This record gives sequence, structure tokens and C-alpha cells, in this order.
Amino acid sequence: GSQTLGQDLVPLLHRLQDIFCQAGLNGQHELKLPEIAVVGSQSSGKSSVLEALVGRDFLPRSNEICTRRPLVLQLSQQSPKPGKPAEWGEFLHLPSEVFTDFEKIREEIEAETNREVGGSKNISEKPIRLKISSPNVVTMTLVDLPGMTKVPVGDQPRDIEKQIRDMAMKYICKDTCLILAVSPANSDLANSDALMLAREVDPRGNRTIGVITKLDIMDRGTNAVAYLRGEVVPLKYGYYGVVNRSQADINEKQVISYAKAQEQQFFRSRTEYREVDQRCGVTNLSMALSTLLSKQMKREMPKLKAVFEQKLKEGGAQLKRLGQGTPQGRSAQSSLLLQLINSFSTALKRNVDGSDVEAAG
Ligand code: GDP
Ligand code: MG
Repeated sequence: GSQTLGQDLVPLLHRLQDIFCQAGLNGQHELKLPEIAVVGSQSSGKSSVLEALVGRDFLPRSNEICTRRPLVLQLSQQSPKPGKPAEWGEFLHLPSEVFTDFEKIREEIEAETNREVGGSKNISEKPIRLKISSPNVVTMTLVDLPGMTKVPVGDQPRDIEKQIRDMAMKYICKDTCLILAVSPANSDLANSDALMLAREVDPRGNRTIGVITKLDIMDRGTNAVAYLRGEVVPLKYGYYGVVNRSQADINEKQVISYAKAQEQQFFRSRTEYREVDQRCGVTNLSMALSTLLSKQMKREMPKLKAVFEQKLKEGGAQLKRLGQGTPQGRSAQSSLLLQLINSFSTALKRNVDGSDVEAAG
């Protein structure tokens, strides 16, 4: 089934992503690995959705611009092992460190962001890579991107809006990238920055998944059923509606597990959502994303395999051209030396003969 598919293919995808990143192959056009990029305007609820998918608080929070570098988040489902922490995080830039305190993960994301862009409100396209292993996540790769804003604040350059868009574009323009377009339910879907951006690279909505946040604070007497049914802006994989914590909940340090129960309670109490119940709640969203990512990976496998085989052939040929290294040991070295002298004299002789022939011809 799709569950086992995800468990098999996505870990492989994670390994490839790390290798590509370390080998500096990410920019290469032919090597495109599937991932899910999260886009939306600032405060649309992107971080809340990501934390709900992880089931932990770990993202830096602020009502100002906060995500200033892309965060590539690899979620890896692991069953608990005795003597090992149940949930932990690892950064690619700190290979030997295991983070079990999620508060420390948050601090490291902030510190690593500042290492690149300083304390400024500027943005950088250099990604931070974080892997979270836990029994409570569904295996997948998500990319958190800076939220879209219109007006530069603080020391942001005048073209900040364009810079943020361009950065998002770099991820979502790849046809292997699924776009998680986050739009708040309390403003008109037809005006959604996320959907407008997604439409530029995916005009038919074939790889965009809609997330409608803040269902709990819609105008009295309205609901998001028409959005969730895809009647307003149709998408092939449709929409998911979620209820995350309000700012007051966060200030009161409400834990995510409690918020999840609250979300369930919300959908139970609103009979109008019953007809779209498969489209409601973060759990349904999480399952759907993992399945879609696995399917995408499966589709890409033959292409990736062909590219790898080609690269391997090129690499092999190059190695051959470079020849053998110096062997160990005296006798091996002297026999190599003899061999070299031999081939040198043969080549020299051939050259002399050749020039003779040329001279004669
Ligand atoms: P981001 O800028 O897109 O990452 O947005 P955040 O996830 O930081 O959310 C912005 C604000 O909206 C925060 O104060 C959240 O607490 C609040 N928020 C997010 N989702 C919901 C929701 O479903 N319901 C309510 N009431 N508030 C939400
Ligand atoms: Mg955010």
C-alpha cells in the first residue's frame, strides 16, 4: 500500500538529498528530487501547519518576518528503540550532534539563520537542512520558505517582495516539487498569494495542494466547505482544512497534542464539515502528503536512475583517465616505474617512427 511505499522510497530520497547537497549537485538541472514546498503570505499559518505535521514546537516564532532562509525539513518515521531517544533532530551542518530538546532546535535554527543573514531582516537562499526522526511523523520532505510580504520593513531591501518570490520560485518551478499552498480561511481564496504564486508555475493545479488555515476564525455564518470541495479554485489533489493554535493559545503555552484534540473537537461540533470530513484536520493532510510524495518519487525513479547511470559512466571514464595511484611497497613501486619507463620508450619510439612516416609522406 501507499504507507509501505512511503516508508521505502522517501528514506532513499532523504539520503539522495543529503548527498546532492554535500556534493553541491543541488543546482544541477537534471537532478531534481521530489519535495514539498510550503508557500503563503506572512502569517497565513505556514509555521503552524509545519509544526502540526511534526507534532512539536520547534520553529522560531515572531510576528515579524521569521523564516529568512529556506528550511529543508526531512521527516523520518522511526519506531522507538530501547536506549535511544524517541524523537530527535539533526542538522546537516552539525553532523555529529543529536538534538533531543526541541527548544534547542529552535535556537539552532535561529543561530544558523543569523550566521548567514546576521540580525537583519534580510533573506538568504542558502537552505538550512534539518532531519527529524520520530514515531509521530509521517516520512516526507518539506521546505519552509520565507512568507510573502509586500512592504519592506527594517533594513530589508526595497525589492524584498521580489526576492521572496524569486526564492520560492526556485523551488516550486521544478516540476518534481509539490506545492503546499497555505491560505487563511478568513480572507478571500481568490486573493490568495499562495495560489497566485502556485498558478504561475502550475497553471492547471496538477501539483498544488491547498491548505486552508484558521477555519475557527471565519466570519460568523460562513464556512470553508466550498473551498474544501474545490469549487472556488479547483486543484487536482484538492484542499485540506486545518485549525491550529491562535496566538493566545501559543502565549499560554498550549501543547500541540492538546491543540490536535481541539481541532478534532472543532470538526465534530461543526456538522457542515461532515460531508468533507476526509479533507479536514492535520492528520488527513499528513497522510495525503506522504502518499503524494511517494508517488512522485516513484514516477521520478526511472529518470533519476538514468541520470545516475550516466554520471557513473562519466565518473568511471574520468577515473580511468587519471590512471592508478602510486602503489604501496618498494617492489610494487619499482615495477610501476619500470612499466612507466617501458611505455614511455614505446610511445617515444612510436612517435619517432610516426614522424619518420610523416617526413617520408
Ligand atoms: P506564518 O507566518 O505563515 O508562518 O504563520 P504562523 O504559523 O506563524 O501563524 C500566524 C499567526 O496566526 C499566529 O499567531 C498563529 O497563532 C495564528 N494561527 C495560525 N493558524 C491558526 C488557526 O488555524 N486558527 C487561529 N485562530 N489562529 C491561527
Ligand atoms: Mg513562519
